[in-house]
Amino acid sequence: MKFNTKVIHAGIEPDPATGAIMTPIYQTSTFVQSAPGVHKGFEYARTSNPTRSALEKNLAALENGHDAICFGSGLAATDAILRMLSPGDAVVATNDIYGGSYRLMTKVFGNHGIKFNFIGLENASSIIDHITDKTKMVWIETPTNPMLNIIDIAEVCKAVKDHNIEVVVDNTFASPYLQNPIDLGADMVLHSATKYLGGHSDVVHGAVIVKTEELASKLHFIQKAVGAVPGPQDCFLVLRGIKTLHLRVQRACENAKKIADFLLANDKVANVYYPGFEDHPNHEIAKRQMKDFGGMVSFDLKEDTVDAANTILTKTHYFSLAESLGGVESLIGHPSTMTHASIPREERLKIGLTDSLIRLSVGIEDIDDLIMDLKEALG
Ligand SMILES: *Cc1c(COP(=O)(O)O)cnc(C)c1O
Repeated sequence: MKFNTKVIHAGIEPDPATGAIMTPIYQTSTFVQSAPGVHKGFEYARTSNPTRSALEKNLAALENGHDAICFGSGLAATDAILRMLSPGDAVVATNDIYGGSYRLMTKVFGNHGIKFNFIGLENASSIIDHITDKTKMVWIETPTNPMLNIIDIAEVCKAVKDHNIEVVVDNTFASPYLQNPIDLGADMVLHSATKYLGGHSDVVHGAVIVKTEELASKLHFIQKAVGAVPGPQDCFLVLRGIKTLHLRVQRACENAKKIADFLLANDKVANVYYPGFEDHPNHEIAKRQMKDFGGMVSFDLKEDTVDAANTILTKTHYFSLAESLGGVESLIGHPSTMTHASIPREERLKIGLTDSLIRLSVGIEDIDDLIMDLKEALG
């Protein structure tokens, strides 16, 4: 089955009771048994729920994984993966991962005896220099947020493959439409389904897609034992969102490309960060591992001040000033005072995250309106 068919059909059967074509929202906590232990595959909704199971089958198919396990948020999914580790274990992670993942790793799991080493991975094979006999997991995110660097997933997986290390890829920014890390050698793929998978800014949800049965059973156990499960209505919303994933992401990519070109030509703009540019340092890797270059674009200003950025942030009409990304509507954000405010200024500047850096999540509105909106805001 091709991707554009999978989003609509994979894992989805008409409701056996009624023939309903849309997966029903099984809003129930428990399932009646005809005798103790005799049931139709469902006992209690923390362990499994038919709406969630349909979504899990669908997600596994989208990422070419063995199975998927859903959680109440992207961070609950991250938490479940990290719970597979034991005190003394070490994780090597890329240094510009999602701020919430960084916080969970350092402020929560750091207190439980897990060691984290955050490194730059522009040169993927250099990861091997950071691996010790304690390293059990590698955590990468690509494209990165908000600088839109690209990490070579296949190269990272190749470098660590003989070391009994699980490679996790946070694939939230690319979505399964653009990039399938398991095909490139990764063991687990994480999604904040809040973003492109849900796609309509109406649900908080997370998922892990795994390569093997062994990882699936470990994570299903953690899902059941720890209990951070999504409700059936949230699973329904994600399933519904996924049906148009290919169309939404494709349009967002087309719009983002035009916006990146527009920004590059604007004389108030200093730098535009977009992996689709031929002179982006990892453009060739992006071309190889992604189907297109994504819907995210960052840029900064020649007048590199928070005030100059604020003028633009408060002037746009179609780009709403808000955290998050991946919805049908365009968003504009200011990493240095919003998502990345907790990173010290000197550290931010080292990776190019300047005071005026603005991040766009390009939506699927008409491109002429979006460009007009930015043109007016830039003045
Ligand atoms: C939003 C996000 C998360 C966290 O997901 P939530 O659903 O907000 O918990 C993790 N990784 C990335 C890249 C994100 O953008």
